[in-house]
Amino acid sequence: MPADSHCHLNDPAFDEDLEEVISRIKEEGMDYLLNVGYDLQTSRKAVELAERYDTMYASVGVHPHNASQLNDNALAELGKLADHPRVVAIGETGLDYYRDRSPREDQVMALRAHMELAKKLKKPLIIHCRDAMEDCLKILEDEDLKKTGGVMHCFAGAPDDARRCLKLGMYISFAGNVTYPKAGALRESLKAVPGHRLLLETDSPYLAPQKKRGRRNSPAFLKYVVDKAAEVRGVTREDIERITVTNFKTLFKTGGVEKGEVAYKIRNSLYLNVTKECTNECYFCARFHSDTVQGHNLRISSDPTAEEMIEAMGDPSRYDEIVFCGFGEPALRLDAIMQVARVVKEKGGRTRLNTNGHANQIAGKDVTPQLAGLIDIVSVSLNTADAATYNEICSPLIPDAYQAVIDFIKSAKASGLSVTATAVDIPGKVNAEDVRRLAEDELGVGFRLRSYNLVG
Ligand code: SF4
Repeated sequence: MPADSHCHLNDPAFDEDLEEVISRIKEEGMDYLLNVGYDLQTSRKAVELAERYDTMYASVGVHPHNASQLNDNALAELGKLADHPRVVAIGETGLDYYRDRSPREDQVMALRAHMELAKKLKKPLIIHCRDAMEDCLKILEDEDLKKTGGVMHCFAGAPDDARRCLKLGMYISFAGNVTYPKAGALRESLKAVPGHRLLLETDSPYLAPQKKRGRRNSPAFLKYVVDKAAEVRGVTREDIERITVTNFKTLFKTGGVEKGEVAYKIRNSLYLNVTKECTNECYFCARFHSDTVQGHNLRISSDPTAEEMIEAMGDPSRYDEIVFCGFGEPALRLDAIMQVARVVKEKGGRTRLNTNGHANQIAGKDVTPQLAGLIDIVSVSLNTADAATYNEICSPLIPDAYQAVIDFIKSAKASGLSVTATAVDIPGKVNAEDVRRLAEDELGVGFRLRSYNLVG
């Protein structure tokens, strides 16, 4: 059930066999699909389709190629169409300096007009940008895109461009070109986008994925883009489908996101959302940037009891591992963790504790002997090779936090636990090699570097 965030079933290329194409899309089980207008005619058609089919939504706009057509009358009609309840976004608009089919000043004027409309109606923007990233981002910044939100559709830039779009609060959508053999750089960008800002699209009838290259593209081919995204990001197809549907619903406000989850599956691991409290305030923490991780809403209103976690978990032997994690520090709930871990062990499951390593400091004693036998792997966020950098990026709420992490790793190892220290890859702030050396050479534990922005 993936979501196609950008397609054009409103294009004349589908006039002859639209019903047939739609029935094939239904067979794929697609529940969310956005038809995007690129002139007045296709905008009208997008609205018409959205009225006819529950799974389809519309975006209305005038493509930069057609920017010169956006006179006062056209803008007035666009305004009326945009007010329709099934129209969930404005665009596509933007800048295209690659083809320059409309004068650049007209493209800029049209982009600003779309942004004005988006702000008035509080709907996000669909941005098309080709060979014009500097100018485009400058205008989006000037016009304060954060007020409406938006998506950079058919993203084709480098990871640095992606980061600049993310800073403006944008979602980033990848299309079939990410499956092309020579698109290695684009796949790096796909890897760098955090789960809560990722969208996929077909841009059909254009840009068919590699397996269908040369043919007319269709939303039914989105599965090939989904598979590539799963491969590149090291998750499953099911994970990518959930992520894109959650993000589609969030950006386009097409349905409530599920309430905060106690147990959530990523790949074949089941994560337990143990607590919403933490003894750190790491600036990179996912909970400060979104309610969701890998398409799961983790914003719980109160901490679950051990019984609630056990019930939400079900049979632990169905999963590779049960991971104590979530939007907070699980060791703050040590008793509950041990109660759940006992059940996991009784039923033949495996356990992992993802912790910031403050457990001993919180408890005022060495708790690691209690974990032995119940926790198979302890993954500790060491993050830095010195206390000053740790304090800068993790903003701990307890004293001597960095030393507490080091001491915890030593005591966990002494208690016979299998320990991996982790660090978030933040070039310029964290010297990953220094952290690796500290973990492996000095503390004698494993080390794993986590990508910044990728959680789970
Ligand atoms: S320790 Fe983990 S949960 Fe706590 S703020 Fe840092 S990243 Fe978030």
